[in-house]
Amino acid sequence: MATLAALETATPHALLRLPYPEDALAPIISARTVGFHHGKHHKGYVDKVNELVAGTEFEGQALERIVMATSGKPDKTELFNNAAQAWNHAFYWRSLKPKSGGKPGGALADRIEAEFGGLDAFKKKLVTTSVKQFGSGWGWLVVDGDSLKVVGTANAEVPFTRGQTPLLTIDVWEHAYYLDYQNRRADYAQAVVDKLLNWEFAAENLARS
Ligand code: MN
Repeated sequence: MATLAALETATPHALLRLPYPEDALAPIISARTVGFHHGKHHKGYVDKVNELVAGTEFEGQALERIVMATSGKPDKTELFNNAAQAWNHAFYWRSLKPKSGGKPGGALADRIEAEFGGLDAFKKKLVTTSVKQFGSGWGWLVVDGDSLKVVGTANAEVPFTRGQTPLLTIDVWEHAYYLDYQNRRADYAQAVVDKLLNWEFAAENLARS
């Protein structure tokens, strides 16, 4: 847990302020999509967590702790789903950077080269995994033991409940792209991977892992 980025620890849980203006990801992701996604969907998960934890053993706990404590517990599904989605979205906004389009540097670049056979091969794998995630979910670059891996998770699932440290994520729920791309998830994922990934954020997460 100590290896995860400290996204927020305050109680009540606060909606992460976007690290850039709503229109900063356009034309890859429109201001309208970001507005609904952050202001309605993400906020909805945060508000629901605050409602569900009030007066319970989970009040005052960080999101990561709530997610770990409720994962796989059938009687805690609603809290898990909302807490995990609150965490995933805070991580997603930080995984994106306006006008990125750049390349990773340093140790991250070396490891992508060594473990995926190059940046292009890595990008292809992240796009393919994100596109193939059936239904709603997430595409991720993670550290798993001594390796970097590209993985998908379904619905609200997070990699860290299975011991994987997230470095970057792409939201592939339809609400993330439908206004801009309709059913063309592959076009959205490809554009995000090519133009919006926040390599500095990934490198910070790798250094901490
Ligand atoms: Mn979303």
